[in-house]
Amino acid sequence: MNTENFSIRHIGISKEDAAEMLQTIGAASLDQLIDQTIPKDIRLKSALNLPKGISEHHFLQHITELAQKNKIFKSYIGLGYHEALTPSVIKRNIFENPGWYTAYTPYQAEIAQGRLEALLNYQTVVIELTGMEIANASLLDEGTAAAEAMAMVFDLRSREQKKNNANKFFVSETVLPQTLSVLQTRANPFGIELVVGNHETITLDDTYFGAIVQYPATNNGEVFNYADFVNKAHDLGIKVVVAADLLSLVLLEAPAKFGADVVVGTSQRFGIPLGYGGPHAGYFATREEYKRSIPGRIIGITIDADGNPALRMALQTREQHIKRDKATSNICTAQVLLAVMAGMYAVYHGPKGLQFIAERIHQTAVTLKNSLEKLGVTVTTKTFFDTISIKADAQKVKAIAEKHEINFFYPNQDTVLISVNEATGVAELNQIITVFAEVVGKSVEEVTTLDTANAIPSDLVRTSEFLTAPVFNSYHSETDMMRYIKKLERKDLALNHSMISLGSCTMKLNAATEMLPLSMGQWANIHPFVPKNQALGYQEMLTELEKSLSIITGFEATSLQPNSGANGEYAGLMVIRQYHISNGQGHRNICLIPSSAHGTNPASAVMAGMEVVVTKTDAHGNIDVADLKEKAEKHKDNLAAVMITYPSTHGVFESSIVEIVNIIHENGGQVYLDGANMNAQVGLTNPGTIGADVCHLNLHKTFAIPHGGGGPGVGPICVAKHLAPFLPTNPIVSTGGNEAITAVSSAPYGSAYVCLISYAYIKMLGAEGLANATRYAILNANYLKENLKNYYEILYTGEQGRAAHEMILDCRPFKQNGIEATDIAKRLMDYGFHAPTVSFPVAGTLMVEPTESESKNELDRFISAMISIRREIEEATPTDEANVLKNAPHTLSMITADTWNLPYSRQKAAFPLEYIAENKFWPTVRRVNEAHGDRHLICSCAPIEAYM
Ligand SMILES: *Cc1c(COP(=O)(O)O)cnc(C)c1O
Repeated sequence: MNTENFSIRHIGISKEDAAEMLQTIGAASLDQLIDQTIPKDIRLKSALNLPKGISEHHFLQHITELAQKNKIFKSYIGLGYHEALTPSVIKRNIFENPGWYTAYTPYQAEIAQGRLEALLNYQTVVIELTGMEIANASLLDEGTAAAEAMAMVFDLRSREQKKNNANKFFVSETVLPQTLSVLQTRANPFGIELVVGNHETITLDDTYFGAIVQYPATNNGEVFNYADFVNKAHDLGIKVVVAADLLSLVLLEAPAKFGADVVVGTSQRFGIPLGYGGPHAGYFATREEYKRSIPGRIIGITIDADGNPALRMALQTREQHIKRDKATSNICTAQVLLAVMAGMYAVYHGPKGLQFIAERIHQTAVTLKNSLEKLGVTVTTKTFFDTISIKADAQKVKAIAEKHEINFFYPNQDTVLISVNEATGVAELNQIITVFAEVVGKSVEEVTTLDTANAIPSDLVRTSEFLTAPVFNSYHSETDMMRYIKKLERKDLALNHSMISLGSCTMKLNAATEMLPLSMGQWANIHPFVPKNQALGYQEMLTELEKSLSIITGFEATSLQPNSGANGEYAGLMVIRQYHISNGQGHRNICLIPSSAHGTNPASAVMAGMEVVVTKTDAHGNIDVADLKEKAEKHKDNLAAVMITYPSTHGVFESSIVEIVNIIHENGGQVYLDGANMNAQVGLTNPGTIGADVCHLNLHKTFAIPHGGGGPGVGPICVAKHLAPFLPTNPIVSTGGNEAITAVSSAPYGSAYVCLISYAYIKMLGAEGLANATRYAILNANYLKENLKNYYEILYTGEQGRAAHEMILDCRPFKQNGIEATDIAKRLMDYGFHAPTVSFPVAGTLMVEPTESESKNELDRFISAMISIRREIEEATPTDEANVLKNAPHTLSMITADTWNLPYSRQKAAFPLEYIAENKFWPTVRRVNEAHGDRHLICSCAPIEAYM
């Protein structure tokens, strides 16, 4: 066994196992299986042009060396990114803990109560600091949250406003530059006109439907009372979005107090590393009356089958991407892990700790202003939280500051902006003052204590209480906090317990060596807007990752900016849109999408201003080529694109793919390939070879970034040569092509920090390991299929009877026994497994994707569980609801209760197979009642005590 070879750690199948499995499958070799699975005409002719894999040990050495190329200056740049201190108890027990980071989005609530509680805490923090009635469990970042808010208020226009085509959105000059850029991108396709200006002098009228202001202002640090502005806007029926610094709200009065309709921002300052731009959780809070229009997921309280309180994702049918082309947002994967950490930061510090932190930051800024004024430096900001604006020769300040390894922000030649943060102690403060002393050529007295004066306008000093619930006032010692985190972790089933065979989601190994670089300060503590020459390690890593992804997809160029798969779809379609515009074909707006597509596809197309035309799927689950051709020809003058998933969402490599690509091209359209299923392609075929023009990748699926319980995600887009000029840029650090579209997310390289994981994955597997991962993913799927096919009907396989990397099990026939796919999903919990994907892409089915990382032993356990459940289904009848499936999952308290009235044994309920006993996982609540929670929506934790 070559222990230097990372492949043997990543791929769960040994050579001996593979031989046995191939026999079961009836394939002579792995190569033969692949030949039977992937159409010949799209196979790569040679291995990927990537280096050989390196050992884990060498990778760690390499990444440590590369980290040295990042210069860690003290950054006071601000602009939505501030150094924050991650409490070690959170870093070690959540951020570095696979029990938290390998979990899936909490759709299966009964085995996700831990992270659901953590997210409820997060929502409570957002609700109470903003003063709003309802908040979601995170969005991608501040810029996209602002764009979502604009889209929501646009959609909520009154009949009158729609009739008058009120299409103006006022953007205050106080707003972050990257937010403005993301707003521009989002506004374009809808014909929304952005009017940038000063909120005090702008004359609003009935051509406006909305406005956004920033609190405190980010262009000069000033804290404005927006009450008059909001009142004027409201008189005209204009809704106001307030982008607010969450930490400042500890000291500032909540935006709800001056009438905000939506409040958005980032929770990065709540203990999340800068990571060269992300991932960080964007937050979104609004009025309860808009609850059905909110983008993203909301956690709510309901009851379980015993009437006990239980948490789950609320109003799921409202989830935007499920509404497909009726959606106003495409958000799916969000930033759960980061939201969990931010919520925990508030739990650990509590209201008093947060107050201490915010006050210290404020006093540091006040002291800085006073010290600078003593030096004769002109500070123009009058009221502020943490940011002051200075009149000075920017070039001169910059030269001296950089000598002291300090970064400020220089918006123009004679302005310097300084934002202090949680990590700015007295020593750091003195360094800043020293810089200015040198600038003016004077000596200074060292500051030893902070000024306690207050520079917040008296009418905006916070008086409302916040975070009064017990959870925020109980765990302030490390022992208590560690145990609280562990208590929640134990409620959740993650990849460190068992296989999570979620079709389309590729829950593969997130190797420890891939994760370790995130714990290094030289990767964690870099502001996204530092000069590029301070981030050479990052630049090298990101450039190489982009190149590798271009090679893997067979394309010309890559943008890492999108923060999720859906964000990538949107970026890719906006690039296509811009390409058509640049060819004088801007009228092309029809997007063909097969009915089997993921809901984000039509939602993204609508966001890109396209009109969705749905095409049919045939009886084999393939795209109906005749129907597609007919529609492509019918719309040939206006055809913009097709969006296809390959292999299809049905787990089939359609042999007609090249024909489909040609049909679209012949009719003037571009081919968008949804790369969520790239795990079945890497090293064997690719979108470039197929003839597509653009694809997104889900680095959090195929390229080993952990799912984090519902994010972070990274959704880069890879494009053919003719689209490369349009890749997105950023207003502060330029990225993308030479005719770049404006930003699709806030940070120049999106979630650069977690790109390290995919970089490690590619580096360690190398060309051969990457292709083998694909081969074994296909082997594992076909092994499951062979073992399950006599028990469950497998919907759709390829022409030679092979599955790709996933397959659909039809559960609809079990209706005759009164059993639904959901019952099987819940029953699997009793067997220690997370359900496969339920009812996507076909209602009443389960989609199973084992991935290459699972061992034969684990696959065999899953097979035995599924066969055992199949027998239980046989025993069930539609009239008798007291069966083991309908009652699943079974909790410990049920099994150990003094009374037991069910017609089957306790052993059958909780230990139906032998393997379970040695590693039993107990769901902590019984089946949750979805409808009850939607009828009585509670989405903050303050009332939970009252509820119990
Ligand atoms: C996961 C997935 C998406 C969306 O990706 P997110 O990162 O969740 O936004 C889109 N299409 C398909 C087929 C997927 O499986």
